[in-house]
Amino acid sequence: MKKLISLILCLVLLGGCSAFVEKPSGKKQYSATFLDLFDTVTTMVGKAESKQAFETSVKPIRDELERYHKFFDIYEQYEGINNLKTVNDKASISPVMVDAVILDLLQDCKDYYTATNGVFNPAMGSVLKLWHDAREDGVNDPANAYLPDSDALTKASQHMNPDNIILDRESLTVFISDPELKIDVGAIAKGWAVQKVCENAPEGLLISVGGNVYATGPKDEKGTAWSVGIQDPKGGNNLHVLNVTSGSVVTSGSYQRAFAVDGKLYHHIIDPVTLYPSELWTSVTIVCEDSGLADVLSTSLFLLDREQGQALLDKFGAKALWVDAKENLYYSPGFRDLIRN
Ligand code: AMP
Ligand code: MG
Repeated sequence: MKKLISLILCLVLLGGCSAFVEKPSGKKQYSATFLDLFDTVTTMVGKAESKQAFETSVKPIRDELERYHKFFDIYEQYEGINNLKTVNDKASISPVMVDAVILDLLQDCKDYYTATNGVFNPAMGSVLKLWHDAREDGVNDPANAYLPDSDALTKASQHMNPDNIILDRESLTVFISDPELKIDVGAIAKGWAVQKVCENAPEGLLISVGGNVYATGPKDEKGTAWSVGIQDPKGGNNLHVLNVTSGSVVTSGSYQRAFAVDGKLYHHIIDPVTLYPSELWTSVTIVCEDSGLADVLSTSLFLLDREQGQALLDKFGAKALWVDAKENLYYSPGFRDLIRN
């Protein structure tokens, strides 16, 4: 979390280096930070006539993000709504009625599962829960950290076919035809939500939800680009600072959520074939217009070699920076053009 906060602060500072009154609009740059969304730090930066005007303009965006946060939460129930926890708990008994937003997200998840040849799998919840529990226990009690039981992983992996998540647009319901299947949308939810809320957001806003960064337009009327830092997986300075005028920058990193067993680190991005964390990369950053797509691609490319990853980038017109454990950096065509000199 500390690293994340320093990333966000860095982002804000980079974005905020022009905190002076600009002519002719007379607007100043402000930022707002929220700690209660998607279990991470959310920051919004933009220009307004006053701090109060800025806070008023970003309030609807924060509230909309909170709505998505509650819908997509698989750990907590909220009064008066059926969210993905409700779906996981009850949809294999009988269809659960949900808001259309949940159906939209799940349909996109199914489409991305197909497009990534199953590397991104929203139905991996039972496998991911075993890793999640081992990680929580390992972080709380490092001396007794353990890996998930391999037989339990294999058993859980027999219940991750997204075809068994049945969406009905007419009745607005989700049914799960495999009682052991659980949904986990951790690889897409933040980016997807950012994309949706930004579609109605004012221009000239930079939003970061736990490092899922989106610019709704340049920083000012002159078209100045925002500066978005890419964290060095080993800590310290940014690897690069990117010029961004619109669209999204999303990073998946092995440093974001990890725990150690016998001195070896295990992170949170799980290969659906091996059922273990992939060891190819320490971070993958995606730049593309759509933030939901960027989130899916950052997780997917983390599990693929460069050639396979590039094929996926070509399919969607996205750009990437890969970093491996030896700190080698690899750039897809066009990525270097975004780097601030
Ligand atoms: P991200 O940080 O966007 O790369 O997403 C990582 C999160 O996605 C993890 O914490 C899990 O909740 C989930 N996840 C891990 N591996 C996969 C996978 N292969 N497919 C879909 N979701 C995954
Ligand atoms: Mg992702």
